[in-house]
Amino acid sequence: MKKVLYILTTTLFLTACQGQETNSTMGNADNTSFPVEKTEQEWKAQLSAEEYFVIRQKGTERPYTGEYNMHFDEGTYTCRGCDTPLFTSDSKFDSHCGWPSFDQGIAKGAILEKLDKTHGMMRTEIVCASCGGHLGHVFNDGPTATGLRYCVNSLSIDFKEEKEE
Ligand SMILES: [Zn+2]
Repeated sequence: MKKVLYILTTTLFLTACQGQETNSTMGNADNTSFPVEKTEQEWKAQLSAEEYFVIRQKGTERPYTGEYNMHFDEGTYTCRGCDTPLFTSDSKFDSHCGWPSFDQGIAKGAILEKLDKTHGMMRTEIVCASCGGHLGHVFNDGPTATGLRYCVNSLSIDFKEEKEE
C-alpha cells in the first residue's frame, strides 16, 4: 500500500511540474507580434552581422566593449532596430558591469519583459515593445530609487543627442 501511495504521489508531482512548465512557456511565447514586423532577410539587410546576432538572436556583446558603456552625454537612446525612444540619459548610471545600465525605461510600455530561462538562470529579458528586438536583461539590484538595473547591449541602441530648441 505504501508503494502505491508513493507512485501516486510521484506521478502527481511530475504532472504538476509539467503543467507549470507549459504555462511559463506560453507566457514566454516567442511568436508575439509587434507593430514593426520584418522578415529575417530584411533584418539582415538592415543590421550588421553583430547587431543581428544581439538584436534578433538574443546575443550578448562582450562586456566593456560597447560604445555606450561609458557614454554619459545628454540625450535619448533609441532602438537600433526601429528608432523608437527607449531610455533617456537621465536614467543612465555607471553600474561597473560592462554594459550600459539604466534605472528605468523612457515610458511605460516602451519596453517589454519576458521570462528567460536559458543558460540555467532565471532572468528577465527586455525587448523593444515596437519591434521585439532584444535589448538585454533587467535585474532587481539597481542602486537608485527604482531598484532596477536595465542592463542593455550597446549594439541594441543608438544615441540621439539633446538638441537646443
Ligand atoms: Zn525596436
